Amino acid sequence: MSHWTPELLSPAGSLEKLKVSVLYGADAVYLGGQKFDLRQASDNFTYEELTEGVEFAHSHGSKVYVVLNSFLHDKDLEELPEFLGLLEELKVDAVIVSDLGVISTIQKHSKLVVHLSTQASCLNVESAKLWQKMGAHRIVLGREVTIKEAAKIKKATGLEIEMFVHGSMCMSYSGNCVISNYTQGRDSNRGGCAHSCRFEYSIDFKNESKESKKAYFMSSKDLEGIRMLPEFIEAGIDSLKVEGRNKSHHYAGTISKVYSEALRYYRGHGNFLSSDMISWEEELRKVSHRDYTTGSLDIYAGDDSIYNNREQDDNEFVVSGIVLEASVGKHLLVDVKSAFHPGDILEVMPFKGQTEKLKVDFLRSLSGVSLEKSKPGSVVKIPYIPGAEKFNIIRKRAV
Ligand code: SF4
Repeated sequence: MSHWTPELLSPAGSLEKLKVSVLYGADAVYLGGQKFDLRQASDNFTYEELTEGVEFAHSHGSKVYVVLNSFLHDKDLEELPEFLGLLEELKVDAVIVSDLGVISTIQKHSKLVVHLSTQASCLNVESAKLWQKMGAHRIVLGREVTIKEAAKIKKATGLEIEMFVHGSMCMSYSGNCVISNYTQGRDSNRGGCAHSCRFEYSIDFKNESKESKKAYFMSSKDLEGIRMLPEFIEAGIDSLKVEGRNKSHHYAGTISKVYSEALRYYRGHGNFLSSDMISWEEELRKVSHRDYTTGSLDIYAGDDSIYNNREQDDNEFVVSGIVLEASVGKHLLVDVKSAFHPGDILEVMPFKGQTEKLKVDFLRSLSGVSLEKSKPGSVVKIPYIPGAEKFNIIRKRAV
């Protein structure tokens, strides 16, 4: 007997990351085109990449949602119908929208399925009902909503409900933040967030008796919802979203792998083992992250969800490369992401199952010349290990 689980929705910050997310277990991915999307900084998809990405995802049984959640002016809206036509042609599975004008334009010019973006900060039943009347098929709830509240919204509306399960968080209500506009002149609601909430600020107390204090008091910890999976499942939450289109291949692959493994286990067994939970948590700690919190999934987030530290770069692992080709018994062709040397011990992350160690007994260029060091951006040959496949991530423990 198979037990029901929610969809796992992973980020696709580029065509390569889309493939990584899908192959490591995402049931669906979300991505942005060259326009109308809040993430200007991510490596957004050209039409050709979008075509290839949708074909790739669909051929692996995964869905594709396209993000159109920037807040648009009239002149931006004029260009939207043409893009909607392209998305319909490609048969994308839904578009993620936050602006009423965009929803209205979509309804006039296409039959695309509308998911309401978290940018619209939908937090309650009445708001969800209104968005439903406006044509939303799914609501991506604000991160401020608890799972219990989400269950009520689902019950009252029958809408599909999506919640964030993992990744960075905003200290403000998503879509209601202008810190970046004021501090950097970059509009977070039009794709320009400079993450100003992560900076160090000082508080100057008017009262002379208190000293002025410098702190990172607006920076939020990262969300980690793996231990809340039983609650998500019980509440019938339709989709669990992983934040992070600007994050690395390692992040996209590892988070997709861990959560899909957990959900697969539940489908087969109807429960979770605490020993598995511990090993999944250990794996989630291997990607770059701030301290983890469950945010508002259980009770509303408070002081303990503030990451009162400087942004750090002390990753436990770095990505060495991505497998481009596995020549059985001979070598792996690797797209190098960061430098490594002959003699290094790397880890190959299979799409399912245990990570395998690989000693770099040889390191050669494509033409067979021995190298002393791999160069990021180059393609190299290293020893083959059984089970390695195209798009496997190869990582190295940071020193
Ligand atoms: S500055 Fe921080 S809180 Fe504001 S939108 Fe950007 S990430 Fe969110």
